[in-house]
Amino acid sequence: MESENMSFGEKVKESIVNRAAEGLAVSVSVILIWVVSKIAPAIMPALESNLSKQLLLSLFLASLALNIVFVVLFWTTRKKAEFKLKYGIYWDANKNPHCPNCKIPIAGYAEYQTGTGYYCKPCKKIFPLQDSAGNDVPPSQAVGEL
Ligand SMILES: [Zn+2]
Repeated sequence: MESENMSFGEKVKESIVNRAAEGLAVSVSVILIWVVSKIAPAIMPALESNLSKQLLLSLFLASLALNIVFVVLFWTTRKKAEFKLKYGIYWDANKNPHCPNCKIPIAGYAEYQTGTGYYCKPCKKIFPLQDSAGNDVPPSQAVGEL
């Protein structure tokens, strides 16, 4: 029950952080548009209409590019901070193993009747800690290589 509340809280936190990133991107566009609207009337008479259109277009494209850069940067840094896949198991920043299927924390690496690895209760499966050749890797080695 408590873990459910925690994951709900984390989801809320995550969506707030996402909203903050979107808000940042939007406010950058708003500032750019505001600057353009303030500058444009002042410089318009000095410029040919063609040139100012080009200026507005390039500023608009710059704002669009900034938005994309913000969103992509935020998304990639957040993704990296979340989990690292190593030997078929997800690891968090504190080197705790997580189920590769449902992503909840798993523990209890052991030799079970049906195989060696981490047992995930909700998935009712054993997830082996193996290298790409299928050889079992001890958790101490995996943690050491993170
Ligand atoms: Zn699972």
